[in-house]
Formats: sequence, structure tokens, C-alpha cells
Amino acid sequence: MKKLLILGAGTAGTMMANRLRKKLSADEWAIAIVDQYSKHYYQPGFLFMPFGIYSEKDVIKPIASSRTTIGFSCAPANN
Ligand SMILES: Cc1cc2nc3c(=O)[nH]c(=O)nc-3n(C[C@H](O)[C@H](O)[C@H](O)COP(=O)(O)OP(=O)(O)OC[C@H]3O[C@@H](n4cnc5c(N)ncnc54)[C@H](O)[C@@H]3O)c2cc1C
Repeated sequence: MKKLLILGAGTAGTMMANRLRKKLSADEWAIAIVDQYSKHYYQPGFLFMPFGIYSEKDVIKPIASSRTTIGFSCAPANN
């Protein structure tokens, strides 16, 4: 089994993980993401919060999902 590790589950890391998961066979490739936080903060949504269009539940989501074949670990990546 080949292993692919993505550091950071922000916008870039999440997009890469989801796109590569579609392209790389799950039988051949294990994909995992590491992030220091267990929650994803959707930053563009912050702009709508002062106007009451979005609230915390719209912009803060748990990163891990039991329905995905992408692994997740919550830990700081240090030097
Ligand atoms: C208020 C606001 C509005 C915005 N509006 C827009 C918009 O309208 N359109 C647009 O295109 N962009 C917008 N942006 C910018 C956009 O949100 C960022 O460009 C984008 O999130 C950057 O993605 P990224 O994956 O590089 O970084 P991030 O999304 O910040 O992700 C980095 C991840 O790495 C993790 N990480 C960092 N260091 C470590 C470490 N040492 N160990 C473990 N994990 C670590 C962080 O916890 C984080 O989850 C906005 C930003 C803000 C703040």
C-alpha cells in the first residue's frame, strides 16, 4: 500500500485530498491529512457573520468524517 500524507486540512489540503481520492485507487493508495485543529474554519464565510447571514454552525465543521476513505489525525506538525 502506498501512502500519501497531506499537511494541513484547510482549503488547499481538503481540495487536494478529495481530488486525489477520486483519482487514486483506494486499494493502492492510503491518503491521510494532519491538522493541528479538529475543526475546519471556512474563512470566506466569516464575512457574512456580522450581517447574520452565516452563524458559527455554517463556518465551523468537524474535519473528520466516518464516511470517507481519507484518514485524519489531529496533531501539530513540527519541524
Ligand atoms: C475573512 C476572510 C475572507 C476570505 N474570503 C475569501 C474569498 O472570498 N475567496 C477566496 O478565494 N479566498 C478568501 N479568503 C482566503 C482563503 O480563506 C484562504 O486563501 C484559504 O483558506 C487558504 O487556504 P490554505 O489551505 O492555504 O490555508 P488554510 O485554509 O488556512 O489551511 C491551513 C491549515 O493548516 C493547518 N496548519 C497550519 N500549521 C500547522 C501545523 N504546524 N501543524 C498542523 N496543522 C497546521 C491549519 O490549522 C489550517 O487548517 C478569505 C480569508 C479570510 C480570513
